[in-house]
Amino acid sequence: MEIQESVPLAPYTTFRIGGNARWYCAPQTSHEICAALAWARERALPWFALGRGSNLLVADAGYPGLIIHTLGMHSIAWEGAACAALPEQACVVRCGAGCATAVLADEAAGRGLSGLEFAGGLPGSIGGASCMNARAYGSEIADIFIEAEVVTPGGEIMRRTRADMRYAYKHSALMESGEIACSVTLALLCARDEAEREMIRARTEENRTKRVTMGQFRRPSAGCVFKNDYALGIPSGKLIDDAGLKGMRAGCAEVSSEHANFIVNHGDARAADVRELIARIKDIINEKYGVMLEEEITYLGFDSAAPRQDAPHRG
Ligand SMILES: Cc1cc2nc3c(=O)[nH]c(=O)nc-3n(C[C@H](O)[C@H](O)[C@H](O)COP(=O)(O)OP(=O)(O)OC[C@H]3O[C@@H](n4cnc5c(N)ncnc54)[C@H](O)[C@@H]3O)c2cc1C
Repeated sequence: MEIQESVPLAPYTTFRIGGNARWYCAPQTSHEICAALAWARERALPWFALGRGSNLLVADAGYPGLIIHTLGMHSIAWEGAACAALPEQACVVRCGAGCATAVLADEAAGRGLSGLEFAGGLPGSIGGASCMNARAYGSEIADIFIEAEVVTPGGEIMRRTRADMRYAYKHSALMESGEIACSVTLALLCARDEAEREMIRARTEENRTKRVTMGQFRRPSAGCVFKNDYALGIPSGKLIDDAGLKGMRAGCAEVSSEHANFIVNHGDARAADVRELIARIKDIINEKYGVMLEEEITYLGFDSAAPRQDAPHRG
């Protein structure tokens, strides 16, 4: 596995923002991830697991450590796919962490397997979705997660069950441990008949279409910037919308006029613009409603509010 120097990260993010990775590699196997971590440890470099960059803001100055990009780990293995004759039997799918979640959702729907309909059109990788407990339309990855093969920061290959993951709203144990998921195993349910198969396909497609209709892909973004505060009971996007902040700009970054919890890149936005906008939104919402919004997006390469893996000598 080649370790490259000075690789632009913006093309690997849905925001299309950010500088270069000082070091970059794209492992194909868990053993290559171990080797990458050992390489970083030997040089006392920080490292970061990158999926499909759909929940990420990379600093304009880039990242001084090693990016471990799971993009090439996209195998999908269906087990029990012949179980259509056995109603309600679970089908297990094992996929590489870099596998695109929306592709997996489509393949599952094509096979008449239920459980991933919520992920129709959901950007990102299954590794990222499992790490962040991605959710949509009332379902989340935790609902179907069985286990993951992970590499620990110390370089051990381990299995993590659903209980190990300690799933909560937009949270998993991986966010604290810094372990890298190499593959993820999910449980899906086989359709009992053609009508059910059709319903699974229709729901998956409907969820994708909703995203397109809502304009989610019209401009580069990282999806929702802020988590929702379920205790408060008002979505963060509604707070931002009610405060009249849609369309507020900093440089080429703008609070989306379609979805107030999205910040969009009008072409040339810098990470500094996005950060400025985020700070302004937080101040205004706190002043107006006494609510401190919490970021959902991950920061990479910033001095402050550094992400969990942005520190040398993990493990
Ligand atoms: C238009 C749009 C709509 C979106 N809608 C939703 C939505 O409805 N619901 C939702 O939950 N999210 C949504 N998102 C955010 C994003 O798609 C998901 O959170 C996605 O699951 C992130 O996966 P990723 O591979 O892109 O992760 P990345 O952005 O690459 O990384 C995010 C975090 O996950 C970690 N990570 C990535 N891969 C691994 C791995 N293999 N092992 C360990 N850690 C890893 C990274 O280190 C980082 O901390 C949206 C984003 C966009 C752009």
